[in-house]
Amino acid sequence: MKAVAVVPQKREVALLEHDEPHITTPGQLKVRTLEVGICGTDREICTFVYGAPPKGYDYLVLGHEGLGQVVEVGEGVSKFKKGDLVVPSVRRPCSDPECPSCRTGLQDFCFTHKFTERGINQTHGFMTEYFVEEERYLTFVPSDLRDCAVLVEPLTIAEKGLAQAWEVQKRLPWEKAVDGKGRGHGRNAVVLGAGPVGILGAMKLVVEGFNTFVYSRSKKPNSKAALVESLGVPYISSEEVTPAQLAEKVGSIDLVYEAVGLARITFDVMEHMAVNGVFVMTGIPAPHGAIPVNAAQLMRNIVLKNQAIVGTVNADPQAFADAIRDLGTFKKRWPEALSKVITGRHKIDAHRELLLGKATGIKNVISFE
Ligand code: BGC
Repeated sequence: MKAVAVVPQKREVALLEHDEPHITTPGQLKVRTLEVGICGTDREICTFVYGAPPKGYDYLVLGHEGLGQVVEVGEGVSKFKKGDLVVPSVRRPCSDPECPSCRTGLQDFCFTHKFTERGINQTHGFMTEYFVEEERYLTFVPSDLRDCAVLVEPLTIAEKGLAQAWEVQKRLPWEKAVDGKGRGHGRNAVVLGAGPVGILGAMKLVVEGFNTFVYSRSKKPNSKAALVESLGVPYISSEEVTPAQLAEKVGSIDLVYEAVGLARITFDVMEHMAVNGVFVMTGIPAPHGAIPVNAAQLMRNIVLKNQAIVGTVNADPQAFADAIRDLGTFKKRWPEALSKVITGRHKIDAHRELLLGKATGIKNVISFE
């Protein structure tokens, strides 16, 4: 089979031959890959600062944002049949019998940090023609979401992030839905970044009832800003509006959902968070030199204003189920905007340009059909 892989020892990104996998245990399924999304993590792996091949291989097949169709089911599989559309999760548990997270299916909270991740860390990914996976790591996709389900994995980042925010905000009396208006009704949320994780997060925040704003670098007009504003969400450029001015425009910044992976803007906006605010970080900045931050002021705010800062990575099965439900909601509410999140569907031969060239568009996808 053809596969897109990195060969770290040779510092190469290559289209290579990879053995077709076969079902080896009753709980497995064989899946034909339909589409794989490309994200910043894939591009970072291609700079060789992140990611690792599985034991016994000198290459790692890339791809963790997969969508596929079941072609074969093991004897013990009960939830899926041939022809079903499925989305795989990314992280696989560590083997430590004492890891309470991994032993209960919550490897996104692995304590040992010895987990693996498909297409990222010591397990091959989905940027190839077929993959084999255990039933418990797959989520069913209704066929009417075929055109957008490649966005499930990036949306799970927002789902888990906001679930964490609600966990924290259980401490406050504002998580109750008001007359079906959503739990965030009457509160303001700022999304940092207008990439796929930011835009999908903004959609989720609007559905939750928040008065939502997107704060991102590029000046208007630009296509991401147009997409964001078509959701009814104001797009504010950080080149034109300082974080202090942003806070004035928004009013009280009750929730910040960071999806930009840049430390400067993250800590600058943090200084302007409201009383009882929660700041959710999802971005993973490239390793970088230290930057000065207004540490004493930040600490005063965090304490005197009861602020919470939460980092979140990966996603649990609930986040996958919620992402599928919410994609259905987004598709009904904003069919055009949702389809515009996927800016390009490309053949596998375009992998080099997509992984190593200048980042363009919003979500680029490799199609295997
Ligand atoms: C993926 C996550 C993964 C994280 C860290 C992200 O790009 O979406 O599933 O846990 O990278 O490797």
